[in-house]
Parts: sequence; structure tokens; C-alpha cells
Amino acid sequence: MSSLDVYIQNLHDHQCIFQIPKNEVREIEHFVIHIVKRFIPTTIKALNPNFTVLEVVNAGSYFEHTKVKNPDEFDFMVVVRELSTPVSVHIQKGCMAGYANVKLRQRGRWHSSGMEYTPEKEFEISILSFNAFLRQAVSLVPVQKGRYGTLIYQDVAVRGKPYSVFSHVQTANFIWKRKICKTGEEMLYQRSDTTNTNNENLKICVDMMTCCHLPVDIFSEILPISSLSNPSLIKHGCHIVLKPCNTPSCNDKETPCRLISYTKSEVEKMANLDENWKVIYKCTKLLFSYVEYSGIDSYKLKSTILHLSARQGHIELGRGLILVLKSLQISSSKGMLGCYFNSTLNIWSISLSYRYFTKWQILLLFKIFRVFEKIPAGEGQHLLLSQMIDQWIGCT
Ligand SMILES: [Zn+2]
Repeated sequence: MSSLDVYIQNLHDHQCIFQIPKNEVREIEHFVIHIVKRFIPTTIKALNPNFTVLEVVNAGSYFEHTKVKNPDEFDFMVVVRELSTPVSVHIQKGCMAGYANVKLRQRGRWHSSGMEYTPEKEFEISILSFNAFLRQAVSLVPVQKGRYGTLIYQDVAVRGKPYSVFSHVQTANFIWKRKICKTGEEMLYQRSDTTNTNNENLKICVDMMTCCHLPVDIFSEILPISSLSNPSLIKHGCHIVLKPCNTPSCNDKETPCRLISYTKSEVEKMANLDENWKVIYKCTKLLFSYVEYSGIDSYKLKSTILHLSARQGHIELGRGLILVLKSLQISSSKGMLGCYFNSTLNIWSISLSYRYFTKWQILLLFKIFRVFEKIPAGEGQHLLLSQMIDQWIGCT
């Protein structure tokens, strides 16, 4: 075991764990699931019988078991049944790999303005129209009173997260009012020191991205053969979200292509990831969250981790971290990182970033950790180095 292995394990055990008790986390999850999977679909149906929620798909780090610090962010994909059949939408190859041109077949079904729109625009209107009912349903969510606290609705917003181009994410904001934490309460992970979050209220945001779902064989002319024959994609299909291609030619014609999402397969893959790779993922996410303008978002990290874990299998923590940084260094300088479930989609193209900053930040981290790795565990030298890094990331 190297010093770096010890350091990463400590960083994880002290910084990446939930800071509130296990039963309370379960209660928050229970309320959020109830709201998103029962209350909202029923309410949308009551508000407009033309819309049906086919499925609410768990997405994001909470459901991948890779959320760090607190369960304060939940992500879901809301699948609209009326848009999830080849009868309602027609898809073709988009202008870029990983994107599809999506046409609504039933023109004028979701608006009564009498205006003429392109079939591509009609698809967008149908989702925006659904989103208006989604926001209305969210605003009607009643207070959820539990044993450990009370969940109270605050407001709902259309938010660009993690980038402004994702402007079709509906974010419902809640406040979790905690009851005073009793001593001796069972913790999800035991912390050695006391935290200052014990009696504070917790802000909880629930992100919902509206989409349609289609089986993978519908994408036969759009996705590469490796995707079409992927067992997980065959089982779960793909989703199409509103994220546009934003190329000048498509924008001019008002026919933006839409991003194909592999969320269900990704969440399943991440939740079943080797435990060491999960620790490495959480720690790198934490490290990069302290680096400003790095452009390393969790999707780039996640994709890197998925590729490496498939190639390497179980690995020591320090070695895994070095491989992640090395791999990011290469992909950021090439500007090319393939999506795990679609090798033709370049992830650097869906979220542009300050590539030069990124390259040097990674290089610096990489060199520091390479030095760290060479020091045997237990030697005094590594304490100094870990203190240095802790101060840098603001842990102490
Ligand atoms: Zn396009």
C-alpha cells in the first residue's frame, strides 16, 4: 500500500461521506421519490390528460452511489409517453455524432397557435408544453412531514445546469428542516469529528429533465454498431433530451438536432462499479470541485472512470487516481474523449471548456500525486504532502 492509497482512503472517509444520519438520508430519499414518481405524474395527468409520464428514471450521482457530502441534489429523467413511440416522432442522423434530428409527426398536436413550425420545432414545443405542466405540478407539492424532519417546497426554476446550454432542466427547490439530531444516532459512515451541519436546514434541489424514450434499434442509422449491440442499451434503450447541437447551419434552419442520452445504462453501470473505482471517482470529483475554471465536469470524469475500470478491473486507489489524471491529461490535450456508450460522441464537444487551463491543472495534480505515490506509507514525508494538499483544497 502506498502513501497515496492511504491519503485517498482518508480523503474519502472524511470528506466524501454523507454528513447526516443514515435514517434521515433514507427519509429524504423516500419523500423525493414519492414526489417525483407518484405525486408529479398523477398531478400532471390531472392538469392535462393529454400527457402521461411513462417513467421517471433515476439519474445522477445520488443514484449512482457517488454523491459526495450531503444528499442535497437528486436528478431524474421524466419520460413522456406520448413522445416515446415511432408513431409520434421520427428520428434521423443528426449533424454531429451522438445527436439525432427529431421530428414530431403529429404537427399542431401540442399547441393551438395556428402558427407553422418546422417538425423539429414542434418537438421542442411539445416538451416545453409538458414542462409548463411539470412546473405547475411541482408548485402543488404538499409539505412532507417525517420522523427526522420536514420537506417544504420553495420554488421551481428552469435552470442551466451544469452548463447554460442545458436550459431545459426544471429544478424544484426544497428546504429540509431537520429535527434536532439525537446523540448515538446510527450514521451511514462513522465520522471521527463532529460536523457543523448537524442542526442546520438543508437545501435540496431536484433536477428533472424531460425526454422521450426509444428502443436502441430505432437508432440503427444513428449509433455505431458497438452501441447497437451493447447489452445494456438493448435492455434500457436510449433517451432523447432537448439539448441542441447548436451548429450554425441547424440554428439557421431552426432544425436543431438533439442529444441522445444513455443515462439509464450509465447509472446502472456506475452503481455496480468496483468499490475502489467509486472511491477514486468521488475523490477526483472532490479535488476538481476546488479547481476553478478547470472544465472537468463530472461527466468527463465519469466517462474516464468507466473506460479505465472496464480496461483495468480492480485497482489500488493511488494507481487508479494516477491513471485517471494521466488519461484526462491525454484526452484534454487531444480534445477527444469518447462517450462510454457511444464511442463516436466526443464528450469534449458537448461541454466546451478552458482546455489549456485544464491541461495544466491536470499536469500539476498528476506530478504531485506521482511524487506522493513513490513515498512508502507510514513515512513522515507524506504527512507534509497531505497537509499541503488538504490546505489547497480547503479541507482543514
Ligand atoms: Zn444539428
